[in-house]
Amino acid sequence: MGSVLPYMEQQGSHTLHPPRVLIFPFPLQGHVNSMLKLAELLALQGLHVTFLNTQFIYNRLLLHTDIQARFAAYPGFLLKTISDGLPDDHPRSSDTLLDLFDSMNSISKSLLKQMLASDELGSESSPSVTCIIADGLFGKFTTDVADELGIPIIHFRTIGACSFWVYFSIPNIIEAGELPIRGKEDMDRLINSVPGMESFLRCRDLPNFCRLSDLTNQSLHHLVQETHHSKRAKALILNTFEDLEAPILSHIQTQFPKIYSIGPLHTHLKHKLATVASSSQSSNSFLEVDRSCIAWLNAQPAKSVIYVSFGSLAVIVKDQLMEFWHGLVNSNTRFLWVIRTDLVTKEGDSAQILAELLDETKERWFIVGWAPQEEVLAHPAVGGFLTHSGWNSTLESIVAGVPMICWPYFADQQVNSRFVSEVWKIGIDMKDVCDRQIVEKVVNDLMVERREEFERVAEEMSMLARKSVNEGGSSYCNLERLIEDIRLARSGRFGSSKLMRDHTP
Ligand code: UDP
Repeated sequence: MGSVLPYMEQQGSHTLHPPRVLIFPFPLQGHVNSMLKLAELLALQGLHVTFLNTQFIYNRLLLHTDIQARFAAYPGFLLKTISDGLPDDHPRSSDTLLDLFDSMNSISKSLLKQMLASDELGSESSPSVTCIIADGLFGKFTTDVADELGIPIIHFRTIGACSFWVYFSIPNIIEAGELPIRGKEDMDRLINSVPGMESFLRCRDLPNFCRLSDLTNQSLHHLVQETHHSKRAKALILNTFEDLEAPILSHIQTQFPKIYSIGPLHTHLKHKLATVASSSQSSNSFLEVDRSCIAWLNAQPAKSVIYVSFGSLAVIVKDQLMEFWHGLVNSNTRFLWVIRTDLVTKEGDSAQILAELLDETKERWFIVGWAPQEEVLAHPAVGGFLTHSGWNSTLESIVAGVPMICWPYFADQQVNSRFVSEVWKIGIDMKDVCDRQIVEKVVNDLMVERREEFERVAEEMSMLARKSVNEGGSSYCNLERLIEDIRLARSGRFGSSKLMRDHTP
């Protein structure tokens, strides 16, 4: 990649240092991935960026990516690390996320303050952080530190506008007496207290932690609190685009006047890199990418393969693995399945389980431990995606124009899958069911019976996604405004550009 010219700016008689933005993601794959893309977009525009990873995550990125070489091409780009306070052998898995929250709240907070106050996060040409973009998932402690030091802070939520709005509305749902859920027979009851979702949001579409009968549950409380802390930030960044989520964005804007919807970030970055003739095949993966599946895909007919992946955190039990396996095999559809070594819990090692399956119908499927997902979804042989409905995966599928079968696991995924099926109509939601006959049926529906219907809508949405990051598109313009505001932040004028697009209807 060619080097980007250093950015210096005259104001009055003196030269200002380039703005330095600190970007601090929550240490999970989807969060780091999208925030690294934002970091590169800002660096491409000449901003100096400090990207702060936990040491644990940074070590994994060093093992599996070219992160150091890639960002060395940007003047003023710094990769820094901070402790997450947990011992090295802590699993940092989906069922121990509260440990990570608690530890970062107590240990990382004081470290962050110290690093910012001592200019440890700056360079000679831009010594001080002039603006912080922090993951809204740990909005409280980062905003406390920013306020104490007088640095403007913007929150980045890596989930969609739809789930952000549901998280934000949980206190209203509780106050309206619509939670707790009263048993299995109550799951299809409509929820009326999330503005804009009254006609389709059911109890079963609420984030999984709303399924608990105890509404004082710590995970629930934590996510609601952190979401409300975003009101203290100067602005909110969302990885979405207006043509996808305009109605929900307009509801969010009643509470958060300044929103920059600048997604889909992976496409936005790809587009900007193409204009400087740079390669965009880099990976931000915490696991080793197995590219052998691309050669296998190259040998398959167009749109014949369903890609199956449950993201970086979801875990399943052996029975569920077997139901998916038999459903996929019985559907007679070719499939490419990502089976991480830690995908199957409790009943033993995935490799051993798979060894029992491997001699059936071998030519019709391919298994990898971790795939180059964006490339896979863009491959002409891929015609569908069986997904856990993580937000990055959802956006990547939308951009590729690939219809989805959704099997959400936790957090925002229950909401995303409802939007995919009921609002955007680009797929089928099979949440809460894991049965081989259902799997076989929905795979056939998506890939054969209703294929044209889904393809038409998915292609239209893909076109709108790509349009949003082209010159003059909504995400393109919102990114320009964000950059203008970051520059103004140096002189205490954050947000005084003529700015924001009004989402109110
Ligand atoms: N991913 C990947 N290879 C895989 C599976 C996933 O590169 O085999 C990437 C995927 O492209 C996405 C991220 O991992 O960017 C997963 O994020 P998402 O928000 O979809 O789900 P999470 O892992 O946070 O549950």
